[in-house]
Formats: sequence, C-alpha cells, structure tokens
Amino acid sequence: MSGPPPIVGADVSGSALKIIRLRLKPAAEKAVRSGHPWVYADSVREQSADGMNSDLAVVYDRADRFLAAGIYDPDSPIRVRIVHVGKPRPIDRKFWADRMRAAIGSREPLFDAGTTGYRLINGESDGFPGFVLDRYDGVQVLKLYTAAWFPRLPEMLELVGVATDDRPLVLRLARNLQAVAEAGYGLRDGQILCGGEIAEKIVFRENGLRFHADVVKGQKTGFFLDQRDNRRRVGTLAAGRHVLNCFSFSGGFSLYAARGGAASVSDLDISRHALDAAQANFELNHDISEVAGCGHRLIQGNAFDWLKSTVEARFDLLVLDPPSLAKKKADREGAAKAYRQLSAAGIRRLRKDGILVSASCSAHIGRDEFFDLVVGTARDSGRRFHEIGREGHAPDHPATFPEAAYLKCAYLQFEG
Ligand code: SAH
Repeated sequence: MSGPPPIVGADVSGSALKIIRLRLKPAAEKAVRSGHPWVYADSVREQSADGMNSDLAVVYDRADRFLAAGIYDPDSPIRVRIVHVGKPRPIDRKFWADRMRAAIGSREPLFDAGTTGYRLINGESDGFPGFVLDRYDGVQVLKLYTAAWFPRLPEMLELVGVATDDRPLVLRLARNLQAVAEAGYGLRDGQILCGGEIAEKIVFRENGLRFHADVVKGQKTGFFLDQRDNRRRVGTLAAGRHVLNCFSFSGGFSLYAARGGAASVSDLDISRHALDAAQANFELNHDISEVAGCGHRLIQGNAFDWLKSTVEARFDLLVLDPPSLAKKKADREGAAKAYRQLSAAGIRRLRKDGILVSASCSAHIGRDEFFDLVVGTARDSGRRFHEIGREGHAPDHPATFPEAAYLKCAYLQFEG
C-alpha cells in the first residue's frame, strides 16, 4: 500500500509533533518504571516546554537518565500515556508497525472460523494507550479514548490497513472526545474512515453463534466482546434450566444458554432497543434447533426493581451483568452496596441447585473486593452454596496493569 489511505472529510494532517522532556514526582517515577502506563498531570514535576496534543513526551529519572517515552495529552488528567520504558529507542513508524503486528498476530491462534468478532488491539495492554481495535467479521472498529491519537491517525490507519488487508474501518470516539474531534479535526463518532459504505449492523460469529454488532452507534464498539468466555461458560451450565439474564443487552448470555439446552431464557433490560436487538439475535440463530425450541421472553424494566418486586419468580440460573456501577473512585461505596443488593435479590430468585453468575465491570471495584462481596452476600442469605468459578475477561483482552483488569465474574451454586 502506498501512502496513507484517504480519510473522508477529516483534517488530521496536523502540525509537526515535537519532543518534550519531563521529570516526574518520585511515586510516579516508580510506577512508570514498574510498567504503569498512566502519568497524571499532578505527577509531572517539570517539563521542558508546553506540550501540544500528541507530542512525544520523553521522561527522565532523578539521575537524568532516560526512563520512558509517552504521548502527551494537554487536555486529559492523564497527561502522558507511556508507550515505552527501558532503553532509549526511536518511537517511529517501525516501532508502531512492529507493535501492531505483534498485537494483531497474537490473536490469530485464539480463534477459529466460528469466532469472527474479537479484539485486535486492547489499548494500553497492547502498547497502544487509549486505542482499541475490534474486528467484526469484515469490518474493523477503532475506538479512541484520548485525543492524542488524532494527529497520528493517518499513520495509524495506514498501519492498520497493512495489518488487516484494508478492511473497512469505523471510528468510534469516547463521549468526552466527540466535541474536540469534530471542532479540531473534522472527525465524528461513527464515521467510516476507510473502505466506503458498510451495513449499520454487522453480522459476526462468536463460538458458532451469530450476532449483530451495531458498530456505528452501539455501546463500546458495538458488542461486549470482553464477556465471550463467560457467555460460553454459561452455555455449559444451562441445560434444562430456566434462565434469567439481567442487564441482557442484546441477549448474548441467553443465546449461549438456549443453545446449551436451557428450558427457557428471559432477557431483562431497561432498554427497548437492547431487547429488540436480543430478539433479532435469536432470529439470526433459528437454524440451531436448541435456540428455535427454547422459550424466549423479553422483559423491559429496571433490574433492581424487578428483582425486588417479583417475589414469586424463580429461576435455575441467573446472570447479573450490570453496566459499570462505579464510574469514579467516589462511587465505590454506593457501587459495592448496589452489587450486594443485586446479588442478594438474585439469590432469592434462585431455586434449589440454582446458579448465580454475578459480574462486575467497574474498574474501581477490585477483584478480591468483588468476589468477597458476592460470597459474603451468599453467606448472609443463610443458604448452603459452593463456588464454581471466578473468571475475568477473554484472552483477547489482555491486562498488563490493575485498571485494565476490570472484569470479574463469580459463579456460585446454591444447594439448599
Ligand atoms: N450482558 C451483556 C452486556 C450488558 S451491558 C452482554 O453479554 O452482551 C449492560 C446493559 O444493562 C445495557 O444493555 C443497559 O441497557 C442495561 N441496563 C442499564 N441499567 C439497567 C437497569 N437499571 N436495569 C436493567 N437494565 C439496565
């Protein structure tokens, strides 16, 4: 491929990026040395010049030796996102190309033809901070969480094109970037950056099941790929059970349960749109006899209220997968209480031998804290139970630092 691909309607040619030198406070220096990729604004002790968006920030240690290099973002509390620690080296096209090849190549052995939706680049943990690239069958979705990539977009898109055979690519932007993207760079959330027209809903496969991904407008990049392995596990636990999937979104857990031989599945979500998507996903899989034969019910409602008020309802397998309940540190206490309430209400809805699958995607609630909280709630219920698993995210979502390991999923079975 010669030269960067055309970027429709965008102005990201950018001005030349400079290099600035930084020194950090001791705690931040230590964190960076041990591999943490975020440098907060209040950890910067001194810097050689005012940084512009996307400048290369070279970090020196107390002894004035090279420590790390990162990308500068003057408008984010995370002022520098580290991309390299150790010996000095150029952060050039080869650096990014090698890194991209390594990330994308590492996914190849993970999936067969039955799975065509997965993460190719998982942000910081693959060396591309705030840069997520997902594949949905023939389409790529790039989601950016920092404006620092905007000036580098032509180069990055060229590298993505080389690594993925120039498949069409949709740009998705974190909500807080959307205004600056449009005003400063002519970039819009949901814009098709390369490859012309694409369908709004892409059909892809996950472990042999078909799903729609709303890559242009849907949450995250269109689907919750991180829960793939938990969905599969739920499929293996579902035979003969009546299943309630709370916070169902587009019915992912339910479809696995139905294929796994569930007696019935109910999707409960507050959003009509999510339930319509769940219905459409069931229809997509009607050629699978277990799916076609499984009673599928849609319940629109607030899961917290529904679980509290429907005192008669009983299930044999109940999935709780709420959206993040702690968006910031200050929400932690409220979130812990909400997880406890949800788990307690879920346990009350379970029949004898029933299984509770309780997940948390809140980065501010730690792994041990969450599992302790779910197990503690199970103990408080007075019912006899045993743990059957503690899981996290699927392997295409590697996590190299604590904040990246946000997904936790507890499996408990209640014998009494
Ligand atoms: N389990 C899903 C992902 C869940 S995303 C999967 O595997 O794909 C979280 C879902 O919770 C969203 O669909 C959102 O609409 C829904 N939601 C948010 N608040 C809710 C509430 N109070 N009650 C019920 N659903 C809610």
